[in-house]
Amino acid sequence: MKTDKDVKDYIRTIVDFPHEGILFRDVTTLFADPRGFRMAVDRMLHPYAGQRIDKVAGLEARGFILGGAVAHQLGCGFVPVRKKGKLPAATISESYTLEYGEAVIEVHDDAIQAGETVLIVDDLLATGGTAEAGIKLVERLGGEILGCAFIIDLPDLGGRKRLEAMGMDVHALCA
Ligand code: 5GP
Repeated sequence: MKTDKDVKDYIRTIVDFPHEGILFRDVTTLFADPRGFRMAVDRMLHPYAGQRIDKVAGLEARGFILGGAVAHQLGCGFVPVRKKGKLPAATISESYTLEYGEAVIEVHDDAIQAGETVLIVDDLLATGGTAEAGIKLVERLGGEILGCAFIIDLPDLGGRKRLEAMGMDVHALCA
């Protein structure tokens, strides 16, 4: 079937979720569409063609769905970066600030070896707090981050600037 739909056209916006006043970008409609999902994964990889990537680090939870597909396509390993208390073996953790309060994410302390090249993957970049914590975890294990790949960047929330100030290469498919 021929279609001119772009990645953005498969994403829907839900008003007032999870709180009143929030416009939530719902990527489940993108994931559910075979053409949209493949297009998103292929385009996320495009900037890194020809580079050696040892591990994809996916940020919970939608970063698992995308990151798993990206890692499979690359033929490399996948590392889940999870919310506190979910990983079974020894972990290291980083806390970061949310709109109300704090959150903690973790990674297994043996998931990445020093010198391995890593691509960080998540569905959406907002303030950059989640990605920054994920970057710190990977760097503490000695991983060399090649870039951070997202489907959506909400530039008004400053995440891209924040990650670029850390020296990160940031790619997103749409705003
Ligand atoms: P940040 O830490 O950059 O402020 O927020 C990004 C994190 O929150 C990502 O893990 C992302 O999955 C989640 N997130 C925040 N807002 C949205 C949204 O509107 N849609 C989706 N799909 N995820 C969101």
